[in-house]
Amino acid sequence: MTHDIENLPVAVIGAGPIGLSVAVNLLDAGLTPIILESGDRAGSNIANWGHVRMFSPWSYNMDPIAVSWLKETEWVEPVLSEFPTGSELLERYVLPLASHEWVAPHLRLNTRVNSVSRQHHDVLRSEGRDSAPFVVRVSRPEGERDMVVQAVVDASGTYQTPNWLGAHGIPAIGEVAASQSISYGVPNILGSARQRYAGKSVLVVGGGHSAFNALQDLVALADQFDGMRIFWGIRGASVDNIVRSPEADELQERRRLEVYIQELLNTGRIEVFTNIAIDKISLEDSRLVVESRAQQLPPVDQIIAATGFRPDLQLLSELRTSLDPATESPVRLGPLIDPNLHSCGSVPEHGSAELSHPESGLYIVGIKSYGRAPTFLLRTGYKQVKSIVADLVNPEKKESAVEHRGSSCETLVNSGCCPM
Ligand SMILES: Cc1cc2nc3c(=O)[nH]c(=O)nc-3n(C[C@H](O)[C@H](O)[C@H](O)COP(=O)(O)OP(=O)(O)OC[C@H]3O[C@@H](n4cnc5c(N)ncnc54)[C@H](O)[C@@H]3O)c2cc1C
Repeated sequence: MTHDIENLPVAVIGAGPIGLSVAVNLLDAGLTPIILESGDRAGSNIANWGHVRMFSPWSYNMDPIAVSWLKETEWVEPVLSEFPTGSELLERYVLPLASHEWVAPHLRLNTRVNSVSRQHHDVLRSEGRDSAPFVVRVSRPEGERDMVVQAVVDASGTYQTPNWLGAHGIPAIGEVAASQSISYGVPNILGSARQRYAGKSVLVVGGGHSAFNALQDLVALADQFDGMRIFWGIRGASVDNIVRSPEADELQERRRLEVYIQELLNTGRIEVFTNIAIDKISLEDSRLVVESRAQQLPPVDQIIAATGFRPDLQLLSELRTSLDPATESPVRLGPLIDPNLHSCGSVPEHGSAELSHPESGLYIVGIKSYGRAPTFLLRTGYKQVKSIVADLVNPEKKESAVEHRGSSCETLVNSGCCPM
């Protein structure tokens, strides 16, 4: 890197908890971040699942340096052993951190990153590549502009790109046409989306904790409104493994939810369809008819697609990334988190070496670094950030937590199944 490039800021894409952690750690190390956030406030993705109670306690959800900064303000520290909702995480941590006097001047809201490239280099051109700064193309209300930066840390999350319902990873036939009656992610069933589901027949698709949350809330709604039917479609052949977390799981909120869903199944509050692989969704008399393999499911009014998320890689397509073909995470991280290889297993700690790409100065962190794998937890992300920032300060010395600390796993942070 030339001296001039070193004086440029580091672009951080996304002001979620991990993007803000990157900014704090960069500032702490004497580097200058510029945080580019598409929403009109920090933590915009979390706002979409604010009603969901988190599995991890406050002590795992905050960056230690950020906490030390906030403690020097009027901030009231949450009780570390309690489990916040997404809204509480936003109101009590993310937003105070974003408005901290050392962070706020570096934050640009309503600024969507559309693409990133290397100055005067398309992806094909090698000569002088490593010494060229990055160009970040952003769109703001007043128009598009380019920013020139020394490095790029992509912490833009995955919440805005949910997976399809279709069995083959592409939309089921008719899925896009039926999208008005399909919710992707974790709708606020007992709050803002109440009228959408009250008294209706609803199919929840997906086998993870997002589906559990939706089922829990639908049952609570059905206690208040007559005539509801709740269907659950899962890919697996049985519902034998609902209670997956160990009894002494430190993420007790996760275990509680699993036990509750098992009870709901035992008492017949939820009608289950196994071996679901959705081929086609048709609209008949304003209801949705789902075809899965040769089976036709009962017509429903609404579908909730709790089928996970995938990373938006388009904005990095002019850079030399190296991604695991299955998980779409950085290639060395892929085998550590691939759900085909680890069923609810532990994930070894990992550092900047596992998160780097052939494009020097580029990192994907936070939940986006896990690509399609559903097991990311914030505490893992804060460790990623520490390692990446150390790397940006001293690029010669890449940190590999796996190599340095062996393959010992962090039991609490990574002990369980997907948080989503
Ligand atoms: C329902 C649910 C429950 C979860 N529960 C837990 C839990 O209990 N414990 C836990 O540790 N983890 C949990 N997670 C997982 C994870 O910790 C969270 O998703 C967390 O928000 C990830 O933080 P992040 O900063 O990586 O991404 P995000 O919080 O998603 O932040 C990404 C930010 O980037 C912005 N952005 C997106 N695209 C662009 C762009 N092109 N340009 C500029 N900005 C952009 C977004 O607006 C957003 O503000 C949960 C996730 C979900 C969905």
